[in-house]
Amino acid sequence: MTERLIAPSTLGARAVYQVAVDRLRSQYRALSEDEPVRLAKKTSNLFRMRDANRAQGLDVSAFSGVIEVDPVNRTADVLGMTTYEDLVDATLRHGLMPMVVPELKTITLGGAVTGLGIESTSFRHGCPHESVIDFDVLTGDGRVLTVTPNGPHADLFTGFPNSYGTLGYALRLRIELAPVKPFVALEHYPVQSAQDAASTIREVTQTRAHRGRPVDFLDGVVFSHDRIIITVGRFVDEAPYLSDYTRAKIYYKSLEQRSSDYLTIRDYLWRWDTDWFWCSRALGVQHRMVRPFLPRRLLRSDVYWKMVGFERRHGWKSGWDAKRGLAPREAVIQDVEVPVDRLAEFLAFFHEEIGIAPLWLCPLRQRNPDVTWDLYALDASTTYVNLGFWSSVETKPAQREGHHNRRIEEVVAELGGRKSLYSSSYYEPDNFWSVYNGAQYALLKKQYDPRGRLLDLYDKSVRGR
Ligand SMILES: Cc1cc2nc3c(=O)[nH]c(=O)nc-3n(C[C@H](O)[C@H](O)[C@H](O)COP(=O)(O)OP(=O)(O)OC[C@H]3O[C@@H](n4cnc5c(N)ncnc54)[C@H](O)[C@@H]3O)c2cc1C
Repeated sequence: MTERLIAPSTLGARAVYQVAVDRLRSQYRALSEDEPVRLAKKTSNLFRMRDANRAQGLDVSAFSGVIEVDPVNRTADVLGMTTYEDLVDATLRHGLMPMVVPELKTITLGGAVTGLGIESTSFRHGCPHESVIDFDVLTGDGRVLTVTPNGPHADLFTGFPNSYGTLGYALRLRIELAPVKPFVALEHYPVQSAQDAASTIREVTQTRAHRGRPVDFLDGVVFSHDRIIITVGRFVDEAPYLSDYTRAKIYYKSLEQRSSDYLTIRDYLWRWDTDWFWCSRALGVQHRMVRPFLPRRLLRSDVYWKMVGFERRHGWKSGWDAKRGLAPREAVIQDVEVPVDRLAEFLAFFHEEIGIAPLWLCPLRQRNPDVTWDLYALDASTTYVNLGFWSSVETKPAQREGHHNRRIEEVVAELGGRKSLYSSSYYEPDNFWSVYNGAQYALLKKQYDPRGRLLDLYDKSVRGR
């Protein structure tokens, strides 16, 4: 394990950070005001196609690393482009973890806060932005501001989540941490219907316990309409054995094969990264003839990203499918939230009209009911279930572009849910701004990016500019 502290002492790290901030400010000033700006970052977990050629890259490579982990107050001071992989390594060394650790190793802290990460602690802790104490941000108008919940820029504190870098870039964030134990004991419960899954989720979310024992982690997988596995996890000090899903064995398959399991805390946090949930199957790496020969360093979501990126640039597979007379396919890669009481309705629609399986289930409840997160406001008294599905669906000639994604947007809205914006979206402008609080966004844009140097949220997430 490496601890990615940016300097040997906290004082030194703060000085290094200050120099990097000054350089970034000058770099930003020197960019042309006529072209949009984008982050020049090595990794991304954004599925929308973006027109990178149009935008000027802002070099933020200096903003990766941990300034300080404070084990007494259980906080960490972290640079905005630090990946969760590095952050987790730095905090686990102190027996601590971020309150919510998104599943993919290269998601960065700033990306998860502005783009709404989620994971199996979200039924207790909400999303990553809900454990941010304060942050520094380079705003669209070139200022570097420190943003706190009650300070002069409190509007940016509550308006930053779901802004996707269109108001400013988080350069440093101080976050709360939670204590861990060395191991996680898992129990996998099969249920036969969405109603049964919903009632288990309701019970665990309300009581934070299952069958009389405390629950620290909660998620699940829908394999088919009558086969859903709910997984509960709890911290333990000792484990009778440990499973390893970083090489030959595959985590999601284990959910159907066993009722209990033990993982180290680190392996638990990255259990979904090794096979990108199950999406690595499409890339051939789960094949039993290939798998034993693949080194661990290749079994990672960022490697799969590169493979998918190559296909998207060159389109060799879609070209080959067309030559074979196969129907074109629509990518359906989305995460949505629906109230737990509407889970069964959503899944009935989904099985009938979309037909992708598996789906990932992750319960979510807002951590602090008194806050309104302006651009992605959830009902604080409602338990939601995040559903993730990442595949493609055959399209029929009569269907308009984005047919299946549009249907998902419609049904999620009918059921009182929300859709994440990291992937393709098809909303009409009026509809989009009514869902994502256009009135407040306009005020924030005027305040922090009046000349529109950063893209507008609609342009970025729907028009894909
Ligand atoms: C297939 C797939 C599955 C996913 N599954 C999950 C999941 O299970 N759990 C989960 O939590 N999330 C998931 N995500 C969503 C992911 O968390 C978000 O897309 C997140 O924003 C990615 O962060 P990143 O650091 O990789 O940022 P990038 O992909 O580089 O950027 C995402 C957006 O955030 C902006 N941004 C990045 N860094 C900053 C910053 N420091 N300040 C301001 N803006 C910034 C960028 O401008 C961009 O608009 C998934 C995404 C995909 C494509």
